[in-house]
Amino acid sequence: RCGYVAIVGRPNVGKSTLLNHILGQKLAITSRKPQTTRHNMLGIKTEGNVQAIYVDTPGLHKQNDKALNRYMNKNAAAALKDVDVVIFVVDRTRWTEEDQMVLERVQFVRGPVLVAVNKADRLDDKTEMLPHLEWLAQQLPNAEIVPISALQGKNLDLLEKLVAERL
Ligand code: GDP
Ligand code: MG
Repeated sequence: RCGYVAIVGRPNVGKSTLLNHILGQKLAITSRKPQTTRHNMLGIKTEGNVQAIYVDTPGLHKQNDKALNRYMNKNAAAALKDVDVVIFVVDRTRWTEEDQMVLERVQFVRGPVLVAVNKADRLDDKTEMLPHLEWLAQQLPNAEIVPISALQGKNLDLLEKLVAERL
């Protein structure tokens, strides 16, 4: 099995960290500063008879008036088309207008969607995202929701298994 997997989400949710951890190498640039990834980055992971081609998107941006933002939006939108699986990364501690914007695009995706609820290691603010998660599940009734920690690699084996099943 082989296919494309788009990693989408607003800036700073942990998309690049996730891709780096899945690939086991530093491919995408991660930073506290949003917009560190300007181009779609590809990473190929082959395991047994499964080959997943991951696409790390530069993020969908609310502010659409600057040329750079426009360019990044274009790339992120293109990454959603013609992919086999979409991983929608959200931050369990924070839901913003930009998440809402990405959600609205993800709702148009015909293929399988996995919602990766990232930063699960932040146990201190454990309950913060929980009411929102139920709402999110209603917005994406066909999506599988997986709590992960991209930083610590928590639950990434499960996420990869779910991806492989959908390729
Ligand atoms: P991107 O803009 O979506 O690509 O986000 P990055 O991967 O660049 O990550 C943004 C920031 O969030 C960085 O400072 C990361 O170290 C941090 N981060 C990413 N994943 C996690 C996680 O699982 N837990 C915690 N605590 N921080 C994370
Ligand atoms: Mg990034």
